[in-house]
Amino acid sequence: MPIDATLPYDDTNIFARILRGELPCNKVYEDDHVLAFHDINPAAPTHILVIPKGAYVSWDDFSANGSEAEIAAFVRAVGKIARDEGLVDHGYRVLANTGGNAGQEVPHLHVHIFGGQPLGPMLSR
Ligand code: AMP
Repeated sequence: MPIDATLPYDDTNIFARILRGELPCNKVYEDDHVLAFHDINPAAPTHILVIPKGAYVSWDDFSANGSEAEIAAFVRAVGKIARDEGLVDHGYRVLANTGGNAGQEVPHLHVHIFGGQPLGPMLSR
């Protein structure tokens, strides 16, 4: 069920539980501000989720309220992870579903990194 990205942060969401160590994840990368792990239901040979450690509902929330340090760390991490996964030569896609029209399901900001094969059209028509 897509979420309303304007709602207040709900710390019972599944990524908050992963951040607290209550649920496992298949970790790819971690620093002071960022955690990244493999998507549980991959849509491409490489499908990684990158999340800020701070409590941000969505891209809208993070871009408005994240600190400069958090935003810089997040953007740097997405690029580094893609490089470290060997995705740059053949290309990759970065996607952040935000709110209902985009079908965002987990109300903690996450960026998807897809790669490992041609990814098809940007949107279904
Ligand atoms: P979105 O539709 O953009 O909100 O994407 C949510 C993503 O989270 C989906 O691709 C799910 O497969 C993924 N997901 C849900 N639960 C987990 C989990 N426990 N570990 C890893 N990925 C998850």
